[in-house]
Amino acid sequence: MDMAEAQKFAPKPNGAGEMFQLFRSGATRTRAELTALTGQSRSTVAARLEVLSDLGLIGPAGEANSTGGRPPAVFAFTPDVKLVLAVDLGATHVGIAVTDLAANVIEEHYEPCTIADGPETVLSRIAEVGKQLIKKAGRKLSDLSAIGIGLPGPVDHSAGRPINPPIMPGWDDKDVPEILGGHLNAPVLVDNDVNIMALGEHAKAYPDVDHLLFVKIATGIGAGVIMDGELRRGARGAAGDMGHVAVLGGEERLCRCGNYGCLEAVASGMALVEDLSSQGLEVNDLRDVVEAVRRGDLIASATAREAGRQIGEVLATCVSLFNPSLIVIGGIMSEAGNHLLAGIREVVYRRSLPLATQQLRIATTEVGSRAGIYGASVMAAEQVLSAAAIESAITAVTNG
Ligand SMILES: [Zn+2]
Repeated sequence: MDMAEAQKFAPKPNGAGEMFQLFRSGATRTRAELTALTGQSRSTVAARLEVLSDLGLIGPAGEANSTGGRPPAVFAFTPDVKLVLAVDLGATHVGIAVTDLAANVIEEHYEPCTIADGPETVLSRIAEVGKQLIKKAGRKLSDLSAIGIGLPGPVDHSAGRPINPPIMPGWDDKDVPEILGGHLNAPVLVDNDVNIMALGEHAKAYPDVDHLLFVKIATGIGAGVIMDGELRRGARGAAGDMGHVAVLGGEERLCRCGNYGCLEAVASGMALVEDLSSQGLEVNDLRDVVEAVRRGDLIASATAREAGRQIGEVLATCVSLFNPSLIVIGGIMSEAGNHLLAGIREVVYRRSLPLATQQLRIATTEVGSRAGIYGASVMAAEQVLSAAAIESAITAVTNG
């Protein structure tokens, strides 16, 4: 292979896809800035800007202030040229939204949904609603660039398949991207609900926090791990599954995973429903528990605080392993006032080393119930806007 040939096969440094990443944060750029940032010639920068603007990703954004002479043109990311369908699927409800590529919601719809009806029924309904929302937004189906969906169970993210999901009968190992993508003709990204909530919370409320743990406390307990600004899924996507860590004092309690003494079996919303019922309180579901704590019921408040301490024991270990600067508590139980949070704080600050807790904040979610929608959108957009995806879109346009 001669030099020219070798050059042809070498990876392109600072291609248009990579240059686009300089716009992702929303920053505006002039040609001169791009030349300085990439170290490339003016003509190369101009050619790449043209390619990106042909793809609809970059557009003019006015003029910069000039120190004399003609003011230079300014370019910016134009996130609304393409759409994302973001889906937050729970066991009994679904949220579906059309967003732009910067996770801004354009249209959204929420409805009850029985996940046990199986993937074909549920996903074709989601596709139907998705098409209606795109139409309502005055857009075309061909504007849809990707779909992100969160599922309430373990997911192999790279394959997009649920793996033995306990509350999703009929979904095990089903090819979600093929079924949903088949209806809407767009690529589909799949992850578990906690991971997408972590992505959504990070993107919308804490974009500058690089090390964040998002803990969802609802029927079960799980966490999404963001390190160095990126979601970490682990080898098979099970990272953050803290609900099944064994805790002291829970040896008698059977968890839905089949083990005894899991954190989830003693401190989840379901565990609180059982605890409070057995102490004579009228509670049938998580919402009832939240309301009992909020109205100041002493037994409910003390039980929530104790659950917080149990969760804090496991989180203290997570703090030692990951050294996050922020722990965000989300999920419906995060609405149960300060008792749960106080229990968590009490143990985490006591049990972790000073270096790890000096700048550690523990807070309840800022984003709330939309975290899953935002995260599903972010996950899909990250795929569409990655340097590699843009390069291959350019190749497809050039060759097609
Ligand atoms: Zn368990």
